[in-house]
Amino acid sequence: MSGPAVLPHADAVQTTATVAAQKQIAKGTFRLSLNCPTIAGRIEPGQFLMLRLPGRDDPLLGRPFALYDVADDGASFSIGYVVIGKMTRLMAELTAGETVELWGPLGHGFPEPDASGAGPTLMVAGGIGQTPFLAAGREILGAAAYGDRGRFAPPAHPPELLYGARSAEYVADVPRFEAAGIPVSVATDDGSLGRHGFVTELLAERLAGERKPARVLTCGPEPMMKAVAKLCAAAGVPCWASLESPMACGFGACFSCVVKVRDDRSADGWDYRRSCLEGPVFPAETLTFD
Ligand SMILES: Cc1cc2nc3c(=O)[nH]c(=O)nc-3n(C[C@H](O)[C@H](O)[C@H](O)COP(=O)(O)OP(=O)(O)OC[C@H]3O[C@@H](n4cnc5c(N)ncnc54)[C@H](O)[C@@H]3O)c2cc1C
Repeated sequence: MSGPAVLPHADAVQTTATVAAQKQIAKGTFRLSLNCPTIAGRIEPGQFLMLRLPGRDDPLLGRPFALYDVADDGASFSIGYVVIGKMTRLMAELTAGETVELWGPLGHGFPEPDASGAGPTLMVAGGIGQTPFLAAGREILGAAAYGDRGRFAPPAHPPELLYGARSAEYVADVPRFEAAGIPVSVATDDGSLGRHGFVTELLAERLAGERKPARVLTCGPEPMMKAVAKLCAAAGVPCWASLESPMACGFGACFSCVVKVRDDRSADGWDYRRSCLEGPVFPAETLTFD
């Protein structure tokens, strides 16, 4: 690999946290609040942490989860997750007072808000890919400050969430986004809520319309993010994608999360980057999505 060496996030710590609360927010989808002032005070929107269950060797490895939000008291933070396999099945059984092992904050999050006023930031989510956007939206609005980035001035246009899901029962926490001042437009594959179709159709309309976004942030299934990146490139709108490449260590040692990026310095025009270190948020035009 070429390019500069990137060190793990200087603020990362390995620690334990107690479960403050757990709430089901959609079908197979939960919001888990963890008491952990160390990470709550450092983590920024788009960053993630690794979570492991103590005293268990199955699953042995931790799993990555994005920051959902930090509580106003700064002592706890939440993650949102959907049950898909070994770890998330066990996580759904966690109750208040139980302990989890964490290391983080990890990776590079979303770029700092841009209050230039040229247009809103559109956040385009697919499924559980909505999790990084509550904190990102609140930071853009100047409603909350994360890590050491400080509080930003409120923008001329509030950020908006375009949220795609399989069906209404998988749509999570929309009132929470709206209460935070983030308008939400929903698209479902089966038409049971919002627009019948893909969230990329909502994005295409916005890119062609009068309220064109100044920039787009996206997270969700890779085919969706690839389509989002293509639409944004055609419209000349900057886009950042938050990847969810499976990873084992989270801090650059195992290379299990490498992704292909365009790289003019390489003879082939592309190279690998570790998503945990150089991502998980990448400028979309640098990703090959293959
Ligand atoms: C930076 C980052 C942030 C993430 N944030 C969130 C989040 O906020 N909420 C959330 O629900 N999930 C998030 N994920 C994905 C989450 O880590 C996986 O869902 C979790 O590892 C599943 O663990 P498990 O033990 O339940 O499933 P496993 O038993 O490990 O896997 C079950 C099946 O899912 C597949 N799988 C595992 N991880 C992924 C993946 N990332 N993409 C596609 N297939 C996968 C496996 O190959 C297997 O087929 C994130 C991933 C990354 C890399």
